[in-house]
Amino acid sequence: MDNVLDIEHLSTIFKTEEGVVRAVDDVSLQVRQGEIVCIVGESGSGKSITAMSVMGLVEAPAGQVVGGTISFHGENLLTLSRNELRTVRGNEIAMIFQEPMTSLNPVLRIGEQLMEPLMEHLKLSRKAARKRAIELIGEVGIARAEQIADSYPHELSGGMLQRIMIAIAISCGPKLLIADEPTTALDVTIQAQILDMLRRFKDESNMSILLITHDLGVVAEMADYVVVMYAGKVVEEGEVVALFESPKHPYTQGLLKSKPIINQRQDELYSIPGQVPNPLELVPSCYFHDRCAHCMDICRTKQPDLKDIGNGQKVACWLYEEAMAYV
Ligand code: SF4
Repeated sequence: MDNVLDIEHLSTIFKTEEGVVRAVDDVSLQVRQGEIVCIVGESGSGKSITAMSVMGLVEAPAGQVVGGTISFHGENLLTLSRNELRTVRGNEIAMIFQEPMTSLNPVLRIGEQLMEPLMEHLKLSRKAARKRAIELIGEVGIARAEQIADSYPHELSGGMLQRIMIAIAISCGPKLLIADEPTTALDVTIQAQILDMLRRFKDESNMSILLITHDLGVVAEMADYVVVMYAGKVVEEGEVVALFESPKHPYTQGLLKSKPIINQRQDELYSIPGQVPNPLELVPSCYFHDRCAHCMDICRTKQPDLKDIGNGQKVACWLYEEAMAYV
């Protein structure tokens, strides 16, 4: 399978009054055609900033991509002009966000917002765009499509708005869909319907999906391949079955342990002790060392590299380094 997206050694920083935050630090990942890759991690892990870097949404001067490449079908997006990137964005790469209300224009009717990309990217006439917009509303499972096209965002429920966001995202037949926590704000029934819909659209068009989530239930449901991020770095990655059956990094093990088990009563849900480190206070070390039950001396002073450990898994942890001679 070809790589649709190939991120190599991506680093993205933010300049704050307190200092420079390295939000994404030397991250590499690939998304192949027709594949769903999930990036999972807690808040502050860098997963959303990775997605925003791909979309060119990291705003200078505070935010800046300072290293690496982001290749989409072999073309480095970081070398494109604003206009070139705009053409790719919305046309070949689309993104949906957690909170549709912040992405939709509150004073524009739904139909108009669906027509805009159809006219801009596909060069449809107003009449053809209106017809296609109504079809798209139906395709995302909303009844009374014409009436909805003439509604304003505030007249629709959260679930309907997220369906509209999906309709806008798929309207131009993107090759890659980036979905950042697309179901977090929705109740579980609607969440399942939205995930089903995303998977159906992916299967129908062979598009690829980069799905950002903190929810391991969503990962289990959707992912072919999983990338686990912590404090801006990839700490483990692998095929979804291998990673769920045999997580290697203590952080991944903790995440899986903290997931509720269906049909099993749990008096207390496990949570990983401690907090994600302050990004302004990171020192060369395994960034998870303060929270890790297996921490060794080397973990406090040296950062482990992401290494292939077989079974299609990669992990950045000194427990799996052959070079324990360093200790
Ligand atoms: Fe734990 Fe050390 Fe592995 Fe980090 S490198 S996860 S501290 S054992």
